[in-house]
Amino acid sequence: MAGAAVNRKPIAKSPRDWRVAPNLLDYERTRAEFSWDAARRALDGLPGGGLNIAHEAVDRHAAGPRRDRLALRFLAKRGAVRDLTYARLAVLTSRFANVLTRLGVARGDRVFALAGRIPELYVAALGALKHGSVFCPLFSAFGPEPIRQRMTIGDGRVLITTAALYKRKVAELRSALPGLKHALLIGAPEEIRALPGTLDFNRLMDEAGDQFAIALTKPDDLALLHFTSGTTGTPKGAMHVHEAVVAHHMTGYYALDFHPDDIFWCTADPGWVTGSSYGIIAPLTHGVTSVIDEADFDAERWYGILQDQGVTVWYTAPTAVRMMMKVGVEVVRKYDLRRLRFIASVGEPLNPEAVLWGREAFGMPIHDNWWQTETGGIMIANYLAMEVRPGSMGRPLPGIDAAIVHRGKDGAVAEVDAPDVEGELALRPGWPSMFRGYLHEEERYRKCFADGWYLTGDLARRDADGYFWFVGRADDVIKSSGHLIGPFEVESALLEHPAVAEAGVIGKPDPVAGEVVKAFVSLKAAYAADDALRRELLGFARKRLGAVVAPKELDFVAAVPKTRSGKIMRRLLKARELGLPEGDLSTVETGTEAL
Ligand code: ATP
Ligand code: MG
Repeated sequence: MAGAAVNRKPIAKSPRDWRVAPNLLDYERTRAEFSWDAARRALDGLPGGGLNIAHEAVDRHAAGPRRDRLALRFLAKRGAVRDLTYARLAVLTSRFANVLTRLGVARGDRVFALAGRIPELYVAALGALKHGSVFCPLFSAFGPEPIRQRMTIGDGRVLITTAALYKRKVAELRSALPGLKHALLIGAPEEIRALPGTLDFNRLMDEAGDQFAIALTKPDDLALLHFTSGTTGTPKGAMHVHEAVVAHHMTGYYALDFHPDDIFWCTADPGWVTGSSYGIIAPLTHGVTSVIDEADFDAERWYGILQDQGVTVWYTAPTAVRMMMKVGVEVVRKYDLRRLRFIASVGEPLNPEAVLWGREAFGMPIHDNWWQTETGGIMIANYLAMEVRPGSMGRPLPGIDAAIVHRGKDGAVAEVDAPDVEGELALRPGWPSMFRGYLHEEERYRKCFADGWYLTGDLARRDADGYFWFVGRADDVIKSSGHLIGPFEVESALLEHPAVAEAGVIGKPDPVAGEVVKAFVSLKAAYAADDALRRELLGFARKRLGAVVAPKELDFVAAVPKTRSGKIMRRLLKARELGLPEGDLSTVETGTEAL
């Protein structure tokens, strides 16, 4: 594996680094004393052993002292602000549940949403959960085919979208979606009336009653259907149950350190699992206020939001951090961000350089954490009160057993006890937000489990202190002259060079070495792509990584291809390099879109 070329000096923490008493102060003790039963007791539950996400997220606060607290604050693209208190959110979600009942939607039916980050989407999500139907968000920038594909797999009965999106993307699909019974549109009444086979969302909401007896769902009843990001292939529909809320709440407490007065901003779109587990559910279960920005990334706008909204806890993604790094630290200095106290990141590996940049720009490291659509919630994290090791994903949450395993030829799985050995990252099944299947793909689901482990498909290693280090996705790891090379390590080294904005690294087949490392690099604005810079970057990487691991080839690209959720798509770089079919492209980013 690549050497410790990248600066990995741990960042120690002391009480000076936190402004509140951290929820996780003594890691070992909290882990030892933790039980999922106790975590369940932190929530209300429903009569008869029931559990419903919407009750824990909305109704229980609306019925208590936090009823007038701001639950969601929406910042529209052009400056308008729409606020929903917990009490108001309870009323609107009840109305939406009544709308579903009136339309004859049954419990367990799939309710899809295709919309930007607008209030109606959040109301529909929580209202569907209240009603007992299964909510499935679609990213609003999807084109017709990805929409059709997911709605067909998910057997969508209801779709909530805007009139504009319906006209542009759904109308042409309608005959291909026989299962779609109701299309509820948000928009001007005349515009909706002109669209056959559709209903007016706002009219139905106006006609609906404010009271709804919440569905007495059981912990194991399906609640959410979430498609994976499609980074490695065709997206899979991961199924989650109401019990997931126990993990959302617990991880919000320990990994994001939610305190009752927090103002939280999760920049992820609800079309991805981060945007629903942490952009909707987890903060609400804690009764905190979430800020939601309808606009797409813009560094100055984002700093303005952090400042003006007084954001205290911020959850974002490596790609956003790299974009901010590209803009430069001087811009941050113009803003007063003193209320910000904790920053976390998820989605793909966070380069050590980005962790350190957080300290320079915001006065605190960015705390990487790791999870997947399948795990439903954060599994491994860097915590407020604990040393951060730049480049490491951190340590497992209380209640989560993570290990490095090797799979034998016979399929047997053996846990690796020794530190610093690479292998597949595996988790002991049984945490509440664990997915319960890939919809209609039983075999694929079954293959994720062996010998009592859930196998994540990611390669990692664990150091002697229990910190996990991401090596690469199993599919992305490069085998060169008998060495295993993780693209992340190479990308991180390249990112240390001042000219580099982003880097994607692949293995290119080679008759001698098996594979050679090839890098694709996009540059910061002030730099020109030429041979001299190429040579310089190759030399720079060789110095840091050694000749075996450093790229042998390097191409400049205008932009590294990414998923719409901001993940580098190495499989696409590879397919293009080798002239192979590009595979499922439904989640490829095509411009500057939401993260
Ligand atoms: P698909 O499964 O469709 O290929 P995907 O794996 O990108 O897409 P997600 O479930 O959104 O879909 O992403 C989870 C994956 O993202 C993880 O398995 C891991 O590879 C990567 N990831 C997420 N967070 C981190 C992190 N902090 N460090 C490294 N990798 C991460
Ligand atoms: Mg995956």
